[in-house]
Amino acid sequence: MKLIDTLLKLGNDVHINEKMKCHVSFKIGGPVRLFIIPYTVDMFLETLNVLDNVKILGNGTNVLPKDEYMDFNVISTEKLTGIFVENDTIICESGLSLKKLCLYAAKEGFSGFENAYGIPGSVGGAAYMNAGAFGWETAEMIEFVDVYDGKKVLRLDRTEMKFSYRNSIFKENEDLIILRVGFRIIKGDSYNIFSRMKQVMIKRVEKQPLEFPSAGSVFKRPRKGFYVGSAIEKIGLKGFRIGGAMISEKHAGFIINYNNAKSSDVKDMIELVKDKIYKNFGVKLETEIEIW
Ligand SMILES: Cc1cc2nc3c(=O)[nH]c(=O)nc-3n(C[C@H](O)[C@H](O)[C@H](O)COP(=O)(O)OP(=O)(O)OC[C@H]3O[C@@H](n4cnc5c(N)ncnc54)[C@H](O)[C@@H]3O)c2cc1C
Repeated sequence: MKLIDTLLKLGNDVHINEKMKCHVSFKIGGPVRLFIIPYTVDMFLETLNVLDNVKILGNGTNVLPKDEYMDFNVISTEKLTGIFVENDTIICESGLSLKKLCLYAAKEGFSGFENAYGIPGSVGGAAYMNAGAFGWETAEMIEFVDVYDGKKVLRLDRTEMKFSYRNSIFKENEDLIILRVGFRIIKGDSYNIFSRMKQVMIKRVEKQPLEFPSAGSVFKRPRKGFYVGSAIEKIGLKGFRIGGAMISEKHAGFIINYNNAKSSDVKDMIELVKDKIYKNFGVKLETEIEIW
């Protein structure tokens, strides 16, 4: 109780035994020990200093928590949504949604984020995953990231973050917590930027099952030219169900929570797909989503 009082005195919202299904796009997941929502980056830092056994949640669009009690604490960045321009760089707090970043950039006439429009993650989650779409990657736009390494705040230059396809230094080193991300500015025309964003959103709506809870594409592309969704479709798994989980009929790379799916339904589906893809194509799949 002393710890909870300390967290509350810092100004956080604190929820005990909060169910993760309320906070992730899959709408799946049991309770965690404490779910904490800081309101400023300073509060976030102070909270990290008093708490151990912590996981960070951005928008929760790439995470599959388990159904049972999870004996760790979660800090959500949902209230850390500041954005401003300083020294020709767009600086965003880690919880800002990519959607808000795209809309801000378009309004200001800053180009380069159009393909990110509709990726439902936060800026911190996008840097962590090196999220990307239509040949574009978050890393292309990053100048620096301010991180907390458990002892101090430091600024990492883009060359220090080991970005590659859906990978970064943050995946290798979970102690690095993303506080702010600095993005470069490419001047463009607001009208054209908004038009391109609209086209991107139309493609997403046409191709992705956005009407169902999911965490996006479940598997990483194993190599250039191998499309996991098409491969899953070829082996006849489109629409296949395990419990409440289903391979999307619209995009076979998505597993959707069709009807009150359990985490175990999704995990069983992942194993089945991995097994069948290996048997049919000799390809080993890795998950893009994070399993908690
Ligand atoms: C419908 C749909 C469509 C999608 N389309 C795409 C797409 O086109 N391209 C793509 O790349 N992805 C896509 N995704 C997946 C997802 O949106 C991205 O991976 C996104 O970058 C995840 O961000 P998030 O804030 O939701 O991260 P979360 O799911 O909250 O977290 C993901 C990981 O990042 C870590 N993390 C988050 N914030 C921080 C922080 N501040 N410091 C340290 N670690 C942090 C978490 O601990 C976790 O390990 C899609 C998902 C959905 C549901």
